Amino acid sequence: MKLQDLKLTNPYLILPKLCYNRVDPAPLNNPFLIHTNEDLAKSLGIDISDEEALTKFVNGELKLEGLDNFAMCYAGHQFGHFVPRLGDGRAINIGTLEDINKTNQHLQLKGAGQTLYSRSGDGRAVLRSSIREYLMSEAMHGLGIPTTRALGLIGSEHRVFRQTWEKGAIVLRVSPSWVRFGTFEYFSHSENYDDLKELANYAINECYPHLNEEPHKYLHFFTEVMERTAKLMAEWQAVGFNHGVMNTDNMSVLGLTIDYGPYAFLDDYDTHYICNHTDMDGRYSFGNQPRIGQWNLHALALALEPLVPKEQLDKAIEHYGRLYSQHFLRLVGKKLGFDTVSDKDFEFMTDMFTMLQSLQVDYTLFFRTLSSYDGEREGLLRLGRMHKPMNEVLDSYDKRLEENNTSVEERHAKMLAVNPKFVLKNYMLQEAIEKAEEGSFELVEALFDIAQNPYAEHEEHARWALATPDEFKNKKLSCSS
Ligand code: AMP
Ligand code: MG
Repeated sequence: MKLQDLKLTNPYLILPKLCYNRVDPAPLNNPFLIHTNEDLAKSLGIDISDEEALTKFVNGELKLEGLDNFAMCYAGHQFGHFVPRLGDGRAINIGTLEDINKTNQHLQLKGAGQTLYSRSGDGRAVLRSSIREYLMSEAMHGLGIPTTRALGLIGSEHRVFRQTWEKGAIVLRVSPSWVRFGTFEYFSHSENYDDLKELANYAINECYPHLNEEPHKYLHFFTEVMERTAKLMAEWQAVGFNHGVMNTDNMSVLGLTIDYGPYAFLDDYDTHYICNHTDMDGRYSFGNQPRIGQWNLHALALALEPLVPKEQLDKAIEHYGRLYSQHFLRLVGKKLGFDTVSDKDFEFMTDMFTMLQSLQVDYTLFFRTLSSYDGEREGLLRLGRMHKPMNEVLDSYDKRLEENNTSVEERHAKMLAVNPKFVLKNYMLQEAIEKAEEGSFELVEALFDIAQNPYAEHEEHARWALATPDEFKNKKLSCSS
Protein backbone atom coordinates (compact mmCIF):
# COMPACT_ATOMS: atom_id res chain seq x y z
CA MET A 1 0.00 0.00 0.00
CA LYS A 2 1.18 3.52 -0.80
CA LEU A 3 2.35 5.49 2.20
CA GLN A 4 -0.23 8.21 1.68
CA ASP A 5 -3.03 5.62 1.83
CA LEU A 6 -2.01 4.03 5.10
CA LYS A 7 -4.59 3.91 7.84
CA LEU A 8 -3.10 3.99 11.29
CA THR A 9 -4.78 2.87 14.50
CA ASN A 10 -3.87 3.78 18.08
CA PRO A 11 -4.65 0.92 20.45
CA TYR A 12 -2.52 2.42 23.25
CA LEU A 13 -4.82 5.43 23.48
CA ILE A 14 -7.60 3.35 25.05
CA LEU A 15 -5.47 3.38 28.21
CA PRO A 16 -6.04 5.90 31.01
CA LYS A 17 -4.81 9.43 30.35
CA LEU A 18 -1.79 9.17 32.65
CA CYS A 19 -0.27 6.50 30.39
CA TYR A 20 0.64 8.93 27.63
CA ASN A 21 0.68 12.51 26.48
CA ARG A 22 -0.32 13.71 23.02
CA VAL A 23 2.43 15.56 21.19
CA ASP A 24 3.21 16.27 17.57
CA PRO A 25 6.63 15.60 16.06
CA ALA A 26 8.84 18.63 15.42
CA PRO A 27 10.32 17.96 11.96
CA LEU A 28 14.03 18.33 11.23
CA ASN A 29 15.33 21.01 8.84
CA ASN A 30 16.28 19.82 5.35
CA PRO A 31 15.78 16.11 5.96
CA PHE A 32 17.20 13.55 3.58
CA LEU A 33 16.72 9.82 3.37
CA ILE A 34 19.72 7.71 4.36
CA HIS A 35 18.35 4.20 4.34
CA THR A 36 15.15 2.17 4.33
CA ASN A 37 14.47 -1.36 5.42
CA GLU A 38 12.78 -2.98 2.44
CA ASP A 39 12.39 -6.30 4.16
CA LEU A 40 10.47 -4.71 7.03
CA ALA A 41 8.44 -2.50 4.67
CA LYS A 42 7.36 -5.64 2.84
CA SER A 43 6.26 -7.35 6.03
CA LEU A 44 4.25 -4.23 6.90
CA GLY A 45 2.74 -4.14 3.41
CA ILE A 46 4.08 -0.64 2.75
CA ASP A 47 5.23 0.55 -0.66
CA ILE A 48 8.28 2.71 0.06
CA SER A 49 9.26 3.52 -3.52
CA ASP A 50 8.23 7.17 -3.14
CA GLU A 51 11.33 8.50 -1.39
CA GLU A 52 9.97 11.99 -0.94
CA ALA A 53 6.88 10.73 0.84
CA LEU A 54 8.97 8.36 2.93
CA THR A 55 11.32 11.13 4.02
CA LYS A 56 8.31 13.19 5.06
CA PHE A 57 6.86 10.20 6.86
CA VAL A 58 10.02 9.61 8.91
CA ASN A 59 10.25 13.35 9.54
CA GLY A 60 6.73 13.35 10.98
CA GLU A 61 5.37 15.56 8.21
CA LEU A 62 2.98 13.21 6.44
CA LYS A 63 -0.58 13.61 7.60
CA LEU A 64 -2.02 10.10 7.47
CA GLU A 65 -5.49 8.88 8.28
CA GLY A 66 -5.70 7.95 11.96
CA LEU A 67 -2.55 9.83 12.89
CA ASP A 68 -2.64 10.64 16.62
CA ASN A 69 0.81 11.24 18.03
CA PHE A 70 1.77 10.64 21.63
CA ALA A 71 4.63 9.90 24.01
CA MET A 72 4.40 7.09 26.55
CA CYS A 73 4.86 7.60 30.26
CA TYR A 74 6.97 5.26 32.36
CA ALA A 75 9.27 5.17 35.36
CA GLY A 76 12.25 2.93 35.97
CA HIS A 77 15.25 1.89 37.98
CA GLN A 78 18.33 3.54 36.51
CA PHE A 79 21.55 1.91 37.73
CA GLY A 80 19.57 0.51 40.64
CA HIS A 81 17.93 3.80 41.68
CA PHE A 82 14.24 4.39 41.23
CA VAL A 83 13.22 7.36 39.08
CA PRO A 84 9.48 7.97 39.49
CA ARG A 85 8.92 9.47 36.06
CA LEU A 86 10.85 8.99 32.84
CA GLY A 87 8.79 8.39 29.71
CA ASP A 88 9.51 8.81 26.01
CA GLY A 89 11.72 11.87 26.10
CA ARG A 90 12.79 11.69 22.48
CA ALA A 91 10.38 9.14 20.98
CA ILE A 92 6.97 9.94 19.55
CA ASN A 93 4.48 7.23 18.67
CA ILE A 94 2.75 7.87 15.37
CA GLY A 95 0.40 4.91 15.13
CA THR A 96 -0.03 1.22 14.58
CA LEU A 97 -0.19 -1.02 11.51
CA GLU A 98 -0.96 -4.70 11.14
CA ASP A 99 1.85 -6.71 9.54
CA ILE A 100 1.37 -9.66 7.16
CA ASN A 101 1.05 -11.99 10.17
CA LYS A 102 -1.79 -9.85 11.55
CA THR A 103 0.41 -8.70 14.44
CA ASN A 104 0.14 -5.07 15.48
CA GLN A 105 3.35 -3.13 14.89
CA HIS A 106 3.69 0.21 16.62
CA LEU A 107 5.56 2.94 14.77
CA GLN A 108 7.69 5.42 16.64
CA LEU A 109 9.92 8.32 15.63
CA LYS A 110 13.09 8.57 17.70
CA GLY A 111 14.57 12.06 17.68
CA ALA A 112 11.47 13.97 16.59
CA GLY A 113 11.52 16.56 19.33
CA GLN A 114 10.52 17.23 22.89
CA THR A 115 7.68 15.65 24.79
CA LEU A 116 6.21 16.12 28.24
CA TYR A 117 8.81 13.60 29.43
CA SER A 118 11.92 15.19 27.96
CA ARG A 119 12.96 16.74 31.27
CA SER A 120 15.98 18.86 30.33
CA GLY A 121 16.64 16.96 27.09
CA ASP A 122 16.09 18.35 23.62
CA GLY A 123 14.16 15.34 22.31
CA ARG A 124 16.63 14.96 19.49
CA ALA A 125 18.91 12.15 18.39
CA VAL A 126 22.18 12.71 16.56
CA LEU A 127 23.30 10.98 13.39
CA ARG A 128 25.86 8.68 15.02
CA SER A 129 23.50 7.26 17.65
CA SER A 130 20.72 6.93 15.07
CA ILE A 131 22.98 4.97 12.71
CA ARG A 132 23.92 2.74 15.62
CA GLU A 133 20.31 1.99 16.54
CA TYR A 134 19.22 1.59 12.92
CA LEU A 135 21.95 -0.92 12.06
CA MET A 136 22.10 -2.78 15.31
CA SER A 137 18.42 -3.54 15.64
CA GLU A 138 18.55 -5.11 12.18
CA ALA A 139 21.71 -7.02 13.13
CA MET A 140 19.93 -8.54 16.12
CA HIS A 141 17.00 -9.43 13.90
CA GLY A 142 19.40 -11.02 11.41
CA LEU A 143 20.84 -13.10 14.24
CA GLY A 144 17.37 -14.28 15.19
CA ILE A 145 17.35 -12.42 18.52
CA PRO A 146 14.07 -10.76 19.55
CA THR A 147 14.32 -7.02 18.97
CA THR A 148 12.55 -3.89 17.87
CA ARG A 149 13.39 -2.97 14.27
CA ALA A 150 13.73 0.18 12.20
CA LEU A 151 11.97 1.03 8.96
CA GLY A 152 13.88 4.11 7.94
CA LEU A 153 16.64 6.52 8.83
CA ILE A 154 16.83 10.19 7.86
CA GLY A 155 19.58 12.74 8.36
CA SER A 156 19.25 16.51 8.30
CA GLU A 157 20.90 19.89 8.55
CA HIS A 158 19.29 20.40 11.94
CA ARG A 159 21.87 21.46 14.51
CA VAL A 160 21.86 19.49 17.76
CA PHE A 161 24.24 20.21 20.59
CA ARG A 162 25.95 17.37 22.44
CA GLN A 163 29.59 18.00 23.46
CA THR A 164 29.77 19.87 20.20
CA TRP A 165 27.36 20.75 17.40
CA GLU A 166 26.13 17.69 15.53
CA LYS A 167 23.40 16.93 12.98
CA GLY A 168 19.99 15.67 14.03
CA ALA A 169 18.57 12.43 12.64
CA ILE A 170 15.41 10.36 13.11
CA VAL A 171 14.95 6.61 13.17
CA LEU A 172 11.49 5.24 12.51
CA ARG A 173 11.36 2.36 14.97
CA VAL A 174 8.85 -0.46 14.84
CA SER A 175 7.86 -2.86 17.59
CA PRO A 176 4.99 -5.19 18.47
CA SER A 177 5.14 -3.64 21.96
CA TRP A 178 6.75 -0.64 23.61
CA VAL A 179 5.60 -1.55 27.11
CA ARG A 180 8.52 -1.65 29.53
CA PHE A 181 9.03 -2.99 33.06
CA GLY A 182 9.18 0.68 34.00
CA THR A 183 5.70 1.31 32.60
CA PHE A 184 4.33 -0.92 35.37
CA GLU A 185 6.59 0.65 37.95
CA TYR A 186 5.16 4.07 37.15
CA PHE A 187 1.61 3.16 38.19
CA SER A 188 2.55 0.85 41.00
CA HIS A 189 4.90 3.26 42.78
CA SER A 190 2.38 6.08 42.48
CA GLU A 191 -0.21 3.68 43.99
CA ASN A 192 -2.49 4.10 41.03
CA TYR A 193 -3.68 0.50 41.04
CA ASP A 194 -6.69 0.94 38.75
CA ASP A 195 -4.47 2.18 35.97
CA LEU A 196 -1.93 -0.52 36.81
CA LYS A 197 -4.60 -3.15 36.18
CA GLU A 198 -5.65 -1.56 32.92
CA LEU A 199 -2.05 -1.48 31.79
CA ALA A 200 -1.67 -5.18 32.70
CA ASN A 201 -4.80 -6.02 30.69
CA TYR A 202 -3.47 -4.01 27.77
CA ALA A 203 -0.03 -5.68 27.91
CA ILE A 204 -1.60 -9.14 28.09
CA ASN A 205 -3.74 -8.34 25.07
CA GLU A 206 -0.76 -6.98 23.18
CA CYS A 207 1.90 -9.51 24.11
CA TYR A 208 0.22 -12.65 25.47
CA PRO A 209 -3.38 -12.70 24.19
CA HIS A 210 -3.66 -16.44 24.94
CA LEU A 211 -3.69 -15.48 28.65
CA ASN A 212 -6.82 -13.37 28.36
CA GLU A 213 -9.14 -16.10 29.61
CA GLU A 214 -6.78 -17.52 32.26
CA PRO A 215 -8.03 -17.29 35.86
CA HIS A 216 -4.62 -16.16 37.19
CA LYS A 217 -3.68 -14.13 34.17
CA TYR A 218 -1.49 -11.55 35.94
CA LEU A 219 0.68 -14.26 37.48
CA HIS A 220 0.91 -16.02 34.10
CA PHE A 221 1.82 -12.71 32.52
CA PHE A 222 4.70 -12.29 34.92
CA THR A 223 5.80 -15.89 34.37
CA GLU A 224 5.90 -15.40 30.62
CA VAL A 225 7.86 -12.15 30.94
CA MET A 226 10.28 -14.00 33.21
CA GLU A 227 10.65 -16.84 30.70
CA ARG A 228 11.23 -14.50 27.79
CA THR A 229 13.74 -12.45 29.74
CA ALA A 230 15.70 -15.59 30.68
CA LYS A 231 15.76 -16.62 27.02
CA LEU A 232 16.80 -13.15 25.84
CA MET A 233 19.65 -12.99 28.35
CA ALA A 234 20.91 -16.40 27.16
CA GLU A 235 20.75 -15.16 23.56
CA TRP A 236 22.75 -12.03 24.40
CA GLN A 237 25.37 -14.07 26.25
CA ALA A 238 25.67 -16.70 23.53
CA VAL A 239 26.17 -14.14 20.76
CA GLY A 240 28.39 -11.86 22.87
CA PHE A 241 26.16 -8.77 23.07
CA ASN A 242 26.57 -6.21 25.84
CA HIS A 243 23.53 -3.91 26.09
CA GLY A 244 25.11 -1.40 28.41
CA VAL A 245 22.02 0.29 29.93
CA MET A 246 19.83 -2.43 31.41
CA ASN A 247 17.69 -0.02 33.38
CA THR A 248 14.15 -1.29 33.95
CA ASP A 249 12.82 1.36 31.55
CA ASN A 250 14.89 -0.36 28.85
CA MET A 251 13.41 -3.81 29.52
CA SER A 252 10.57 -4.95 27.27
CA VAL A 253 7.71 -7.01 28.72
CA LEU A 254 7.78 -8.92 25.44
CA GLY A 255 11.41 -9.92 25.93
CA LEU A 256 12.70 -7.80 23.06
CA THR A 257 16.04 -6.05 22.87
CA ILE A 258 15.10 -2.37 23.06
CA ASP A 259 16.78 1.04 23.27
CA TYR A 260 20.16 0.71 21.65
CA GLY A 261 22.66 3.04 23.32
CA PRO A 262 26.32 2.40 24.11
CA TYR A 263 25.96 -1.33 23.35
CA ALA A 264 28.76 -3.48 21.95
CA PHE A 265 29.48 -6.89 20.57
CA LEU A 266 32.46 -8.46 22.24
CA ASP A 267 35.75 -8.16 20.45
CA ASP A 268 38.01 -10.45 22.52
CA TYR A 269 35.98 -12.58 24.89
CA ASP A 270 35.86 -10.79 28.24
CA THR A 271 33.22 -11.51 30.83
CA HIS A 272 34.18 -8.31 32.69
CA TYR A 273 33.76 -6.08 29.66
CA ILE A 274 31.75 -2.89 30.26
CA CYS A 275 30.65 -1.12 27.08
CA ASN A 276 29.11 1.91 28.82
CA HIS A 277 31.77 4.26 30.10
CA THR A 278 29.44 5.89 32.64
CA ASP A 279 28.98 2.47 34.26
CA MET A 280 31.92 2.81 36.65
CA ASP A 281 31.09 -0.23 38.79
CA GLY A 282 30.28 -2.53 35.89
CA ARG A 283 26.71 -3.07 37.00
CA TYR A 284 25.84 -3.73 33.35
CA SER A 285 29.04 -5.54 32.38
CA PHE A 286 28.74 -8.40 29.92
CA GLY A 287 28.99 -11.10 32.57
CA ASN A 288 26.45 -9.42 34.86
CA GLN A 289 23.64 -9.30 32.32
CA PRO A 290 21.83 -12.52 33.31
CA ARG A 291 21.88 -11.47 36.99
CA ILE A 292 20.65 -7.99 36.13
CA GLY A 293 17.85 -9.54 34.07
CA GLN A 294 16.77 -11.24 37.29
CA TRP A 295 17.18 -8.07 39.36
CA ASN A 296 14.95 -6.26 36.88
CA LEU A 297 12.36 -9.04 37.12
CA HIS A 298 12.31 -8.51 40.89
CA ALA A 299 11.56 -4.82 40.22
CA LEU A 300 8.72 -5.83 37.90
CA ALA A 301 7.44 -8.35 40.46
CA LEU A 302 7.38 -5.62 43.10
CA ALA A 303 5.36 -3.44 40.74
CA LEU A 304 2.87 -6.28 40.19
CA GLU A 305 2.32 -7.02 43.88
CA PRO A 306 -0.97 -5.09 43.96
CA LEU A 307 -2.26 -7.60 41.36
CA VAL A 308 -0.58 -10.88 42.37
CA PRO A 309 0.30 -12.28 45.83
CA LYS A 310 4.00 -11.77 46.54
CA GLU A 311 4.64 -15.49 47.31
CA GLN A 312 3.43 -16.45 43.84
CA LEU A 313 5.66 -13.90 42.14
CA ASP A 314 8.64 -15.02 44.22
CA LYS A 315 7.94 -18.63 43.32
CA ALA A 316 7.79 -17.79 39.62
CA ILE A 317 11.10 -15.96 39.71
CA GLU A 318 12.80 -18.96 41.34
CA HIS A 319 12.75 -20.70 37.94
CA TYR A 320 14.71 -17.92 36.26
CA GLY A 321 18.21 -19.29 36.95
CA ARG A 322 17.39 -22.79 35.75
CA LEU A 323 15.64 -21.51 32.62
CA TYR A 324 18.49 -19.19 31.78
CA SER A 325 21.04 -22.00 32.16
CA GLN A 326 18.99 -24.36 30.00
CA HIS A 327 18.76 -21.82 27.20
CA PHE A 328 22.43 -20.96 27.47
CA LEU A 329 23.44 -24.63 27.42
CA ARG A 330 21.26 -25.27 24.37
CA LEU A 331 22.58 -22.22 22.47
CA VAL A 332 26.26 -22.80 23.23
CA GLY A 333 25.78 -26.51 22.48
CA LYS A 334 24.52 -25.51 19.03
CA LYS A 335 27.47 -23.16 18.54
CA LEU A 336 29.76 -26.07 19.35
CA GLY A 337 27.96 -28.40 16.95
CA PHE A 338 26.80 -30.88 19.60
CA ASP A 339 23.84 -33.05 18.57
CA THR A 340 22.45 -32.95 22.09
CA VAL A 341 23.52 -31.31 25.33
CA SER A 342 23.32 -32.24 28.98
CA ASP A 343 24.35 -30.58 32.24
CA LYS A 344 27.71 -32.31 32.15
CA ASP A 345 28.63 -30.13 29.14
CA PHE A 346 28.81 -27.12 31.46
CA GLU A 347 32.22 -28.31 32.57
CA PHE A 348 33.64 -28.25 29.05
CA MET A 349 31.96 -24.92 28.32
CA THR A 350 33.39 -23.35 31.48
CA ASP A 351 36.88 -24.53 30.53
CA MET A 352 36.39 -23.15 27.03
CA PHE A 353 35.24 -19.71 28.23
CA THR A 354 38.11 -19.58 30.73
CA MET A 355 40.53 -20.30 27.89
CA LEU A 356 38.95 -17.65 25.63
CA GLN A 357 39.20 -15.11 28.43
CA SER A 358 42.80 -15.85 29.34
CA LEU A 359 44.05 -16.04 25.74
CA GLN A 360 42.10 -12.92 24.69
CA VAL A 361 40.48 -14.62 21.73
CA ASP A 362 38.11 -12.81 19.39
CA TYR A 363 34.76 -14.30 20.38
CA THR A 364 32.96 -14.30 17.02
CA LEU A 365 36.01 -15.40 15.05
CA PHE A 366 36.66 -18.31 17.42
CA PHE A 367 33.25 -19.90 16.81
CA ARG A 368 33.32 -19.17 13.10
CA THR A 369 36.74 -20.78 12.78
CA LEU A 370 35.61 -23.71 14.92
CA SER A 371 32.72 -24.17 12.47
CA SER A 372 35.20 -25.59 9.92
CA TYR A 373 37.34 -27.50 12.42
CA ASP A 374 38.27 -30.97 11.20
CA GLY A 375 41.17 -31.78 13.49
CA GLU A 376 43.58 -29.32 11.85
CA ARG A 377 44.29 -26.80 14.62
CA GLU A 378 46.53 -24.24 12.98
CA GLY A 379 43.79 -21.63 12.34
CA LEU A 380 42.44 -21.86 15.89
CA LEU A 381 45.84 -21.81 17.56
CA ARG A 382 46.64 -18.58 15.76
CA LEU A 383 43.68 -16.85 17.47
CA GLY A 384 45.14 -17.09 20.98
CA ARG A 385 48.29 -15.84 22.63
CA MET A 386 49.41 -19.29 23.78
CA HIS A 387 48.96 -22.74 22.31
CA LYS A 388 48.75 -24.97 25.37
CA PRO A 389 45.36 -23.87 26.83
CA MET A 390 43.77 -23.90 23.36
CA ASN A 391 45.18 -27.38 22.67
CA GLU A 392 43.79 -28.67 25.97
CA VAL A 393 40.31 -27.36 25.17
CA LEU A 394 40.50 -28.82 21.67
CA ASP A 395 41.55 -32.20 23.10
CA SER A 396 38.40 -32.23 25.23
CA TYR A 397 36.37 -30.99 22.28
CA ASP A 398 37.64 -33.85 20.08
CA LYS A 399 36.64 -36.32 22.76
CA ARG A 400 33.22 -34.76 23.22
CA LEU A 401 32.59 -34.80 19.45
CA GLU A 402 32.91 -38.59 19.51
CA GLU A 403 29.45 -38.61 21.13
CA ASN A 404 28.02 -36.92 18.02
CA ASN A 405 26.24 -38.97 15.36
CA THR A 406 26.37 -36.38 12.58
CA SER A 407 29.16 -36.42 10.00
CA VAL A 408 31.88 -33.77 10.06
CA GLU A 409 30.34 -32.10 7.00
CA GLU A 410 26.91 -31.98 8.61
CA ARG A 411 28.37 -30.53 11.79
CA HIS A 412 30.20 -27.87 9.81
CA ALA A 413 27.03 -26.90 7.93
CA LYS A 414 25.04 -26.66 11.16
CA MET A 415 27.70 -24.61 12.93
CA LEU A 416 28.14 -22.21 10.01
CA ALA A 417 24.41 -21.56 10.21
CA VAL A 418 24.50 -20.53 13.89
CA ASN A 419 27.93 -18.91 14.26
CA PRO A 420 27.86 -15.55 12.46
CA LYS A 421 30.76 -14.62 10.23
CA PHE A 422 30.04 -10.98 11.06
CA VAL A 423 28.75 -9.05 14.01
CA LEU A 424 28.61 -5.27 13.92
CA LYS A 425 31.51 -4.42 16.15
CA ASN A 426 31.90 -0.86 17.37
CA TYR A 427 34.94 -0.10 15.25
CA MET A 428 32.97 -1.05 12.13
CA LEU A 429 30.06 1.16 13.14
CA GLN A 430 32.47 3.96 13.92
CA GLU A 431 33.98 3.76 10.45
CA ALA A 432 30.50 3.93 8.90
CA ILE A 433 29.57 6.85 11.16
CA GLU A 434 32.66 8.86 10.25
CA LYS A 435 31.93 8.39 6.55
CA ALA A 436 28.28 9.26 7.11
CA GLU A 437 29.23 12.46 8.89
CA GLU A 438 31.17 13.39 5.74
CA GLY A 439 28.00 12.71 3.73
CA SER A 440 28.79 9.26 2.36
CA PHE A 441 26.52 6.38 3.28
CA GLU A 442 28.00 3.40 1.41
CA LEU A 443 29.30 1.85 4.60
CA VAL A 444 25.92 2.20 6.30
CA GLU A 445 24.48 0.28 3.36
CA ALA A 446 27.23 -2.34 3.48
CA LEU A 447 26.81 -2.89 7.21
CA PHE A 448 23.06 -3.14 6.78
CA ASP A 449 23.52 -5.94 4.21
CA ILE A 450 25.87 -7.75 6.55
CA ALA A 451 23.46 -7.21 9.44
CA GLN A 452 20.62 -8.86 7.56
CA ASN A 453 22.71 -11.90 6.55
CA PRO A 454 25.44 -12.34 9.16
CA TYR A 455 26.02 -16.01 8.30
CA ALA A 456 26.69 -15.40 4.59
CA GLU A 457 30.26 -15.15 3.32
CA HIS A 458 30.16 -11.55 1.90
CA GLU A 459 33.69 -12.01 0.46
CA GLU A 460 33.86 -8.31 -0.44
CA HIS A 461 33.77 -7.49 3.30
CA ALA A 462 36.23 -10.17 4.42
CA ARG A 463 38.29 -7.70 6.48
CA TRP A 464 35.34 -7.22 8.85
CA ALA A 465 35.34 -10.93 9.65
CA LEU A 466 38.86 -10.74 11.06
CA ALA A 467 39.73 -10.17 14.71
CA THR A 468 39.18 -6.56 15.76
CA PRO A 469 42.37 -4.52 15.22
CA ASP A 470 44.19 -4.11 18.57
CA GLU A 471 43.74 -0.33 18.72
CA PHE A 472 39.92 -0.68 18.60
CA LYS A 473 39.45 -3.62 20.96
CA ASN A 474 37.10 -3.70 23.94
CA LYS A 475 36.61 0.09 24.06
CA LYS A 476 33.93 1.82 26.15
CA LEU A 477 31.30 4.08 24.68
CA SER A 478 29.63 7.21 25.91
CA CYS A 479 25.88 7.22 26.54
CA SER A 480 25.57 10.64 24.91
CA SER A 481 23.22 10.38 22.00
P1 AMP B 1 17.88 5.96 27.79
O1 AMP B 1 19.07 5.87 28.69
O2 AMP B 1 18.22 6.22 26.35
O3 AMP B 1 16.96 4.80 27.94
O4 AMP B 1 17.06 7.23 28.24
C1 AMP B 1 16.55 7.41 29.54
C2 AMP B 1 15.49 8.47 29.56
O5 AMP B 1 16.02 9.73 29.12
C3 AMP B 1 14.30 8.17 28.67
O6 AMP B 1 13.17 8.66 29.32
C4 AMP B 1 14.62 8.96 27.42
O7 AMP B 1 13.49 9.25 26.68
C5 AMP B 1 15.26 10.21 28.02
N1 AMP B 1 16.17 10.88 27.05
C6 AMP B 1 17.34 10.43 26.60
N2 AMP B 1 17.87 11.30 25.70
C7 AMP B 1 17.01 12.33 25.61
C8 AMP B 1 16.99 13.56 24.85
N3 AMP B 1 17.96 13.87 23.99
N4 AMP B 1 15.94 14.38 25.03
C9 AMP B 1 14.96 14.07 25.89
N5 AMP B 1 14.91 12.96 26.62
C10 AMP B 1 15.93 12.08 26.48
MG1 MG C 1 15.36 4.11 27.12
